[in-house]
Amino acid sequence: MRALLIYPKNPETFWSFKYALKFIAKKAMHPPLGLLTVAAMLPADWELKLVDENVEPLTDKHLVWAEMAFISAMVIQKESVKKVVSRCKGHGLKVVAGGPLFTTSHEEFEGIDHFVLDEAEITLPGFLRDLEAGNPQPVYTTEKFPKLGLTPSPRWDLIKLRRYASMTIQYSRGCPYQCEFCDITTLFGRRVRTKNTQQMLAELDHLHALGWRGGLFIVDDNFIGNKGKLKKDVLPSIIKWMEKHHYPFSLSTEASIDLSDDEELMIMMVKAGFDGVFVGIETPSEESLAECSKLQNKNRDMVACVKKIQAFGMEVRGGFIVGFDSDSPSVFEKQIELIQNSRVITAMVGLLNAPKGSRLYKRIAEEGRLLKEVTGDNTDFSTNFVPKMGMDNLYQGYRQIISGIYSPKPYYDRVKNYLKEYKPLKRKKFRFHFNYIRLHPGYISALFKTFFLLGIKDKARRHYWKLMFWSLFRKPLALTRALTFAVYGFHFRKVFLDRM
Ligand code: SF4
Repeated sequence: MRALLIYPKNPETFWSFKYALKFIAKKAMHPPLGLLTVAAMLPADWELKLVDENVEPLTDKHLVWAEMAFISAMVIQKESVKKVVSRCKGHGLKVVAGGPLFTTSHEEFEGIDHFVLDEAEITLPGFLRDLEAGNPQPVYTTEKFPKLGLTPSPRWDLIKLRRYASMTIQYSRGCPYQCEFCDITTLFGRRVRTKNTQQMLAELDHLHALGWRGGLFIVDDNFIGNKGKLKKDVLPSIIKWMEKHHYPFSLSTEASIDLSDDEELMIMMVKAGFDGVFVGIETPSEESLAECSKLQNKNRDMVACVKKIQAFGMEVRGGFIVGFDSDSPSVFEKQIELIQNSRVITAMVGLLNAPKGSRLYKRIAEEGRLLKEVTGDNTDFSTNFVPKMGMDNLYQGYRQIISGIYSPKPYYDRVKNYLKEYKPLKRKKFRFHFNYIRLHPGYISALFKTFFLLGIKDKARRHYWKLMFWSLFRKPLALTRALTFAVYGFHFRKVFLDRM
């Protein structure tokens, strides 16, 4: 069998980092990890090709070569999925689809021959058996959650590593919390399932052997869902591995705010090579936190918690939401204060949306407030239900936040305040490797591109030069961070301010 694995194009969003990637000559932030994992579960005698439309075009040659197409997608790729399916059908290909988009709404799609839904560890073997027997069914689904102990190492050999800014890896699925707006627990359950330490080390070995050096994002929705296991087995082993291999990867992940309560865990993560973590901070309003059951965030000095994680050596990227029923008109100003004071540079502020599968979706539908399905882009100035405060008030307040944190002055001020206390980590065992240049040649020319695009052409050039000179003379070790944040700021202004 010749199987073509296709990852449809992502639109331009906050997380696409499209405008930042141009500076470093990369095509996409991350490879399609789900599809690479599915590829590793397909029969060994199949011929496989993978096309990620985010880094290369899907050509007729690919489609003529293939006997069957496998598509994986998230909600945000809904529109590009339809185009891909129609092209596959135009070439007479059988189409198999899986991933979160289809698991939550497969009935909305036409032209797909087989849906392999939920987690592929359970549903894919059934499809492959039936296919072999000549009798594949239209839908494969399960209510069970598989153990991850047998999940194979993803087939990173199928992608063009150099085109990505960072690689990805998965350690766990599921989250013990139950935030009302989140569909993760419906998709993956509340019990945290993890790969074992040997699997994790094998995956690090695999990427290392392929020559990857640089960023490695652990895609778990909550990496610290099982803290005991992390501290006892996984992190000590990763620390040893990193020291032995001279820290070839810089790690980042997503975690809940209770990470800031556990100093031992933060020390271990930093020792293991973590330098960044995304945290769902959501809102400064205690009422709104209670409303959405984000209880782990309640009764905290959130600014102090974020600063603590930063002080241990991890940059905190944050998710923020407005549009809760309990939000008062003052929430917009308070969000700006929270973001500026906590110095979260990468602050993804979105309007509350109700994704299918979340408890919020059910409640909003019961209350007759549902307008449409989510777009999957929580920074596209849209919400899929009628907000209690009224749509106009919400949009107006949202715009106030966006200009209050992403206009050049507050943005560069936030960066400077963060860098004032930034202490670059010195890893004794880090060793430079030629592959950093081979894989990321664009990083050298990025410096000149920032001078030209941000220092000459950009309207905010005055702020850019102020930050550069301040950093050069006051904080020279933070200069590369300052440059990186200047590039991020350019992307955020394009994504947010240009849409207003
Ligand atoms: S928002 Fe984060 S912490 Fe809350 S349920 Fe979802 S994954 Fe867990």
